[in-house]
Amino acid sequence: MRTLIVSDVHSNIEGFAAVVRDAERRGPVDAVWCIGDVVGYGPNPSEAIAAVRQPGVLVVAGNHDLAACRRMDTLDFNPVAAAAAHWTRDSLGEEDRAYLHGLPLIATAGAFTLVHGSLRHPEWEYLLDPEQAEAHFALQGTPFSVVGHSHVQFLCTEREGQPPLFHRAEDGERVPLGDERVILNPGSSGQPRDADPRAGYMLYDDASHTVSWHRVEYDARPTLRKIIEAGLPEYLGQRLLIGR
Ligand code: ZN
Repeated sequence: MRTLIVSDVHSNIEGFAAVVRDAERRGPVDAVWCIGDVVGYGPNPSEAIAAVRQPGVLVVAGNHDLAACRRMDTLDFNPVAAAAAHWTRDSLGEEDRAYLHGLPLIATAGAFTLVHGSLRHPEWEYLLDPEQAEAHFALQGTPFSVVGHSHVQFLCTEREGQPPLFHRAEDGERVPLGDERVILNPGSSGQPRDADPRAGYMLYDDASHTVSWHRVEYDARPTLRKIIEAGLPEYLGQRLLIGR
């Protein structure tokens, strides 16, 4: 069974479609895990929700999903993120907002725990350093976990008597899952921020018990055009072209 792991779709359906196509080109996809921030920033929130609101797709809530359905206020958002969150909130129908409202903060799938930020702060924490990873591992009840939020593709390994070790994953890198507990991040399909504009995702193959990281090129110009037409900050579209 092969699972597509995607995060931070951010209302960018072109990026999401590219990821699904690329994953299916590599073989059949049996399940999808989405690690939050389905909406926010991009021009197609309703279409992004429709894309993940499917049988076989497990979704946890991100901060932008919570803001869009008023489970969280936007006081701690930066001005551009807050403007996009308010636009998203206003453009979603009641049914879409109810769907977001019903999403769990944490989900378990077999040996994996899924959470947008971290287990310590599910909605907010950018899990990027060993101290944060240690606190997260202390709460992790499964061998493996997947986080999103930082839009950075990584593998973090728990070590006996030493701080957890972070490793930035490369496109095409494949890693066997073994006895060590790990935290994985698939990066972002909808708004990469590592100077590489290609949409990011992960695959988990339970037959070989491996995970792999991937990047796929797509044309973000239609997304940019729709962002401008919607009256969202143009910067949110321009950044897609440079991955920043
Ligand atoms: Zn995000």
